[in-house]
Amino acid sequence: MRDLSNDKSNLSLNTATVRERWNLKQIIDGCARHDIGGIAPWRDQIAACGLDEAARRIKDAGLRVSGVCRGGMFPAADAAGRQANIDDNLRAVDEAVTLGADCLVLVVGGMPPGSKDLGDARRQVEDGIAATLEYARAHDMPLAIEPLHPMYAADRACVNTLGQALDICERLGDGVGVAIDVYHVWWDPDLETQIERAGRNNRILAFHVCDWLVPTTDMLLDRGMMGDGIIDIRGIRKQVEAAGYDGSCEVEIFSAQNWWKQDPDDVLQTCIERHQSVV
Ligand code: ZN
Repeated sequence: MRDLSNDKSNLSLNTATVRERWNLKQIIDGCARHDIGGIAPWRDQIAACGLDEAARRIKDAGLRVSGVCRGGMFPAADAAGRQANIDDNLRAVDEAVTLGADCLVLVVGGMPPGSKDLGDARRQVEDGIAATLEYARAHDMPLAIEPLHPMYAADRACVNTLGQALDICERLGDGVGVAIDVYHVWWDPDLETQIERAGRNNRILAFHVCDWLVPTTDMLLDRGMMGDGIIDIRGIRKQVEAAGYDGSCEVEIFSAQNWWKQDPDDVLQTCIERHQSVV
C-alpha cells in the first residue's frame, strides 16, 4: 500500500489555491521551486497562458497533471444549450489530453435557471456525461465525476454523494470514475462503504483535500487548510489508499479571506507541512 502522506512528489496543487496572486506560469514555477510533484490547472488559466505553452511549461517543470478543472456544467434550459455544454466538454477532453492529465474533473452542474425539477437536472447530467464519454474513451481520457456537498445541488452539482456518482458510473460503464474531495463527502454516513465500492471497480481517479471550518462563513470561499477544521483527513486517506488509489493527493483551497490573501510561497510551504502532518 502506498503512503500518500510522506512524499512531496505525491502532492499536487490545485491552482485555485493560489490563483488570486499568481498566474499559471507563476504557479508552475512555484510548484517546481517547492518540489511539489503535481498540478491541477483550471481551464481559464490554461486559456490565458495558451494551451500549448501551458503543456510545455508543465512538462518542462516535470509536474504530473492530477486533473484538469473542469468539465461538466451539463444542464441547460433547452436543447441548444445542452449541446453547447457537451461541445465545451469535448474541448475540455482535448485540453486534458494535450496536458497529459490523469483525468478530466467534472463538476456536473445544477438546475437550469427557473427550474424546480432536480430529477430532470440529474437526468440531464447523466445524458451529458454519456454524450461526452465516447469521445473521452476514444482519446483515453478518464472522466472523474466529483460529487459536491449537497449545499451546491441547485447551482453547481446535483450529484451529491459518492454513492450517487458510482451509480452513474456503473450505468455508463468504462472510462468514468470519481474524484473524492474530503470537503464534499466527509459528512456522508455511507462514505467508507462507498469508497470500498469505488475501489473494487477501480473508479477512484482523484483525491482532493482541504478542511471544513467551524463555523464556515461562506458556502464557496471559506475552505480551510488541512488540519484547521474537523475532517478526519488522514482517516479518509487511509480508506482511499486501502481501496487501491495510488494517484496524487491534490490540495484545493478556496479561501477568499485567508489563504488567497497570503504570500503564495508561504501558502505552498504550509500545504507541504500540513500534507506531511495531517493528511
Ligand atoms: Zn475538489
